[in-house]
Amino acid sequence: MPSMAKRDYYEVIGVSRQSTVEEIKRVFRSKARNLHPDNKQSGDEAAFKELAEAYEVLCDEQKRSLYDRFGHEGVAGKTHSFDNFDFGAFAGFGLDELLESFFGGGFSNARRNGPEPGSHLQLDVQIDFLEAVSGVEKDIKIKRLDDCETCKGSGAAPDSKVINCSTCNGVGQVQQVINSWFGQSVRVSECPSCQGSGKRIEKPCRSCHGMMLAEKNVDFPLKIPAGIESGTRMRLPHGGDKGRNGGTFGDLFILIRVKEHEKFVRDGENIFVKQNISFSLAALGGEIIVPTVEGEKSLKIPVGTQTGRIMVMKNLGVPRINNSNRRGDQLVQLNIETPTKLSSEEKKLFERLAQIRGESLQEESNGAGKDPFFSVEEDKNDSSIIDKIVDAFKSKHETQ
Ligand SMILES: [Zn+2]
Ligand SMILES: [Zn+2]
Repeated sequence: MPSMAKRDYYEVIGVSRQSTVEEIKRVFRSKARNLHPDNKQSGDEAAFKELAEAYEVLCDEQKRSLYDRFGHEGVAGKTHSFDNFDFGAFAGFGLDELLESFFGGGFSNARRNGPEPGSHLQLDVQIDFLEAVSGVEKDIKIKRLDDCETCKGSGAAPDSKVINCSTCNGVGQVQQVINSWFGQSVRVSECPSCQGSGKRIEKPCRSCHGMMLAEKNVDFPLKIPAGIESGTRMRLPHGGDKGRNGGTFGDLFILIRVKEHEKFVRDGENIFVKQNISFSLAALGGEIIVPTVEGEKSLKIPVGTQTGRIMVMKNLGVPRINNSNRRGDQLVQLNIETPTKLSSEEKKLFERLAQIRGESLQEESNGAGKDPFFSVEEDKNDSSIIDKIVDAFKSKHETQ
């Protein structure tokens, strides 16, 4: 179709530009089935070729990105020429066979004679809160498939040879004559004995039973950046299983889990800490020592501090990931501890204080015999901000 103005590939398949490869594949297959020569009404060679070309570009990450940026120009010469394809010869054949002939194999997963990419692996790694804040290097150990050491990945025993498959005489394909509605046609398919490789191992390697691959323990150094959040997935290219027949390694995905800390609670780049202070310190002001991710630091308490007040300790939070110059703050919520046991001297001093301040100790006290100082009921609804943050933090991490 060189003279025709080409239609947009997304339009040809009937998907949006944001569609995933799976969506494109699904829509493509259902359209391809309709256009198949077996469908007397809807079978359409030209439309099928147009569809196949669009699919070939959009299902390939690299070609798709070229097409997205430069249009048809970007993928010129990068698609199969389907001009000489004998569409009618596929009457009576399944869709997969038709597609495989179109795309030269690799369309279905059934073909195994070429290199296969290895599987991706996943590993969970747990780190401490402080390791997440400052970054850490971990040695991770995984078991993955690699070339069998005994046979160096050939699959053959040391004294064995790789010989031609006797079923297909080394061709890797078998032919079958089919009499169909269109007349006689020859169906070529992958040899079932050698899975299309054309080769057979005389005596399989005893370590891997001819599988060519064997499990191996591998150590990887893993640099976890400062500021990483729980639930982050890191990708280590080629850290996964090796593929068969000289295929590449898959990737290793590492899911980072950060343990909770007994004192620190993280919210984005900030760290929250609860800190109790005494009654007198709150009234008079002073200085206290609080824990931070950089060790203990002093914090000034202003005169007349109310309970629940949040003090900001600048730049003592979590570094922004991959930019350790920027970091959050530590927020300290002060909780004033009311003394629960008073010596008689302390009691006298508080009574004297109340007297000086003109406070009536009988005020609003309705429980006879109760110590008037401590008759105020605890307000159950007034849960502190920290508790809310802790709850939100926990529920966020429980749902993951
Ligand atoms: Zn082996
Ligand atoms: Zn064979």
